[in-house]
Amino acid sequence: MLSSARNPSTATYPPVSVILILKPNTDRASESFAQLTNHLESLDDISFTFHDVHGEGQVLTEVYLLGDTARLSKEAMASLPCVERAVRVQESYRILGRHGEEDRQEGFDYNGVRFSQDDLHVFAGLCAVDTPEHVEIMMKALKEHGQQCTRMGAYKPRTSPYSFQGHGASCLPWVFELAGKYDIRVIAMEVTHERHIDEIDEALEKTGNPTGVMLQIGTRNTQNFELLKHVGRQKRHPVLFKRGFGITLNESLNAAEYLASEGNPNVVFALRGMKNQGGDPHRNMVDFTHVPVVKRLTRMPVCVDPSHSVGSRHSSPDGLLDVFHATAQGVIAGANMVLVDFHPKPAGALVDGPQALRMSELGWFLEDVSIAREAYLLRRKAADRALKTNN
Ligand code: PEP
Ligand code: MN
Repeated sequence: MLSSARNPSTATYPPVSVILILKPNTDRASESFAQLTNHLESLDDISFTFHDVHGEGQVLTEVYLLGDTARLSKEAMASLPCVERAVRVQESYRILGRHGEEDRQEGFDYNGVRFSQDDLHVFAGLCAVDTPEHVEIMMKALKEHGQQCTRMGAYKPRTSPYSFQGHGASCLPWVFELAGKYDIRVIAMEVTHERHIDEIDEALEKTGNPTGVMLQIGTRNTQNFELLKHVGRQKRHPVLFKRGFGITLNESLNAAEYLASEGNPNVVFALRGMKNQGGDPHRNMVDFTHVPVVKRLTRMPVCVDPSHSVGSRHSSPDGLLDVFHATAQGVIAGANMVLVDFHPKPAGALVDGPQALRMSELGWFLEDVSIAREAYLLRRKAADRALKTNN
């Protein structure tokens, strides 16, 4: 939760701020909390906001100090009532950034599903919702395979205005009802306009909230700052934020920070390949080596989208599709979410059929993901052992 205290002064300061990390489960009604607030209010040219991070079994409150913070001593700040430690933040993604703090609290729960840098969820589903029959086949198969998340595109940002633009609001009620029927808890769904959030909320209300929706920002909207501000102002749904396909990682991380700075820090960062001729014959240059980089720089869980990276169903002599290989590369590097296109009839799909996996491949795909995940967990154990021995 963000709550503004005072307006920042109009003077310009270097982009440096201080984050005070309070002791776990600090009571905001306590005397010491009041003392802290009073002290912060007495600081000239400094504004502050409170931000709660909900971890497993504890709430951690962080206080962001903005303005002329260069003059504050970190030690003095760390000795204030309720404060566990103070962190000086240089980078521009202040809220989502890790700032060298390896144990900064991260992750969030949404509709009974935990998203963090330690979890892994597969979001297999339709790039574009077409018919109720196809949506039902998809969701039924997911339930049979013990899955509780999916992807369903209702609003499609297309390169050509003459291509299918998605069914929009009209399909939402039956998509949500089918999700409820098959116990799907989270649907990743792209929004391309602020109006779409209201449409999703209305359809969820109308159908009795049978599922949850993670709002997706597509790569074409990575720097649509007004859309980001709108999506960031709502706190009901978490956000799946796609990296911009033609900008630097730093620019994309700054863009993701717009969501958090407006109030919603529950953001998953998705790698989906970069536009660059070097990626040929894949649709985009697969950038999954950046999974650990994003985890190091930020507290966001990291998603990989092998479908939009690879863009085809090509396979190699080992029998594995390139989409499987790319997924495994992301998962073995520690990815926390996989967004992947499936379709009951790829040849008839209205969007991105050539890259869609078949329903008959779902079990195999999930098995391949588990193998890569196990390998990642073994790699972590080996790293722990090696680091203990070497230090
Ligand atoms: C999608 O996931 O359907 C999509 C359009 O992805 P991207 O924004 O990465 O192209
Ligand atoms: Mn697509």
